[in-house]
Amino acid sequence: MFDDLRDLYQEVILDHGRKPRNFRRLEGANRVARGDNPLCGDRMELFVNVSPEGRIAEAAFQGRGCAISMASASLMTETVRGKTQAEAAELSGKFRELAMSGVCPDCGASLAGEMERLQPLAGVHEFPSRVKCATLAWHTLNAALADGAEERNATSE
Ligand code: ZN
Repeated sequence: MFDDLRDLYQEVILDHGRKPRNFRRLEGANRVARGDNPLCGDRMELFVNVSPEGRIAEAAFQGRGCAISMASASLMTETVRGKTQAEAAELSGKFRELAMSGVCPDCGASLAGEMERLQPLAGVHEFPSRVKCATLAWHTLNAALADGAEERNATSE
């Protein structure tokens, strides 16, 4: 990676880590999940508001943890806004690949712009113990959306 690009990515992570976006309890959230990464001590609670059409109207989080976990959650809440649950699941899978390998297969295809925004975190693949810090927010999102699906199935019967 070029040094300039590495510096830029570093700056994005530091900025989001220090001043996480959407860092608050979301009133009226209809999906909530907690995430815990005991390896590093990162913990978060994620609030998601899914519209009746199945789009993520808003996502917010609270918690504490290392700069990478906070920056990743911050970027995640920004990136999934307006996405369908299927798109969010696709992003989650692609982000996991990106964090583990540093490269994103089929990132040129769908959701390329979104993956571009998450690129600053690709560098964690060089530090295997930090991969979980970066993926915690996405695991928590999956849990929140999965719970909601069960609730919806239960109430529609
Ligand atoms: Zn961490």
